[in-house]
Amino acid sequence: MVTGDSAYIKKINRSLIIQKIVEHGLVSRADLSKITGLNKATVSVQVADLLNEGLIYETQLEHSSIGRRPIMLSINENAGFVLGIDLDYKSIIYTISNLKGKTVHENEEKFDTEEYESVIKSIITKIKEYQHDFSDRPYGIVNVVIGIHGTVNKQNESIRFIPRYKWLKKNIKEDLQKELNIPLFIENNANLSAYAEKVYKHHHSNNLLTVILTSGIGSGMIIDGDLQKGFHGYAGEMGHMIIYPNGEACRCGNHGCWELYASEPEFIKKLEAELQQTNLSISEIQNFLEANHFIVKSFLDRYLQYVSIGLNNIINLYNPETIVLNSRLLNIYPDSLEKLKGHLISSVSEYGEIALSDLGNQACVLGACALGIQRFLEVPEILLSAPENQTFLTMK
Ligand SMILES: [Zn+2]
Repeated sequence: MVTGDSAYIKKINRSLIIQKIVEHGLVSRADLSKITGLNKATVSVQVADLLNEGLIYETQLEHSSIGRRPIMLSINENAGFVLGIDLDYKSIIYTISNLKGKTVHENEEKFDTEEYESVIKSIITKIKEYQHDFSDRPYGIVNVVIGIHGTVNKQNESIRFIPRYKWLKKNIKEDLQKELNIPLFIENNANLSAYAEKVYKHHHSNNLLTVILTSGIGSGMIIDGDLQKGFHGYAGEMGHMIIYPNGEACRCGNHGCWELYASEPEFIKKLEAELQQTNLSISEIQNFLEANHFIVKSFLDRYLQYVSIGLNNIINLYNPETIVLNSRLLNIYPDSLEKLKGHLISSVSEYGEIALSDLGNQACVLGACALGIQRFLEVPEILLSAPENQTFLTMK
């Protein structure tokens, strides 16, 4: 056998063993051999390596029936930490997670500038701070994954465009790497959100589509288990599919884009005009709903219709197994999901299930952490348990 091949096989076996240890939480060497189909000697050698590296540890079960208590293996979740960053408009969420996906630190930083250089500078400072804070752990901060609310070129992970910042063609990865000594990955926020829904919530689904209806409309697609990015990496700009001929003018140059009818800011803008009110918050809308406000309810009913027009198109394109909608409006409107399903009655469009996201605006940063763990452990797939009490961080 050629050495190159044996090294490759060793790597595949290692990855399989790590993946199963993460998946099972606690597992014995004998069970690992059964689950993976690898012989006991191979498992033993690999486990010895992982123990040496401090990535896993041994533990004995406290309560066991008669006989020898088996030695169990578990991921050493605090050996290293990943840093997920959600670079949103004038707000950055930093979340640090251990290797089992448990959040150990989170922080939201608000700022007032749109200037690329100063935003990058503050991210660099923060990353260096965290690297220092976690330097006493065996592996410290192992990598950083940054979610971008715009298009990301998949070849060099540069920003093509972030509409709200008006940042065009910024090589963020290169700019950060000049100042930092840590593996960095840049990914679109909707892709990370789709990844989070799969990793933390919808483990079974290999064809999952998430639609984020908050600031604009973003969507992330997992097809046959893989994130779909398109030729350059810009796939999934569903907000700009045209649902209205000669409709409202969109900043993209077209008229009648879905985003102008089904995104949260547009809904709020129109409702504010109708109610002659400014700075309407989600909780105020919720109060109106609780008081059975007729105009607000009828606006939301019409909103659901708009949402369903776009969804119908997407369903026909992708035949998804799972659709996850990330929307504060749908979350506060009672029975929104049932009403939405009522609009999706075409005998042609087929989907498996449709659900509301409860990861909220944490979806992107949690997806970033999950991707960081997957990259660090070098496993093809990772499934984690959802953080408890996840809520919309800034429900104002
Ligand atoms: Zn448009």
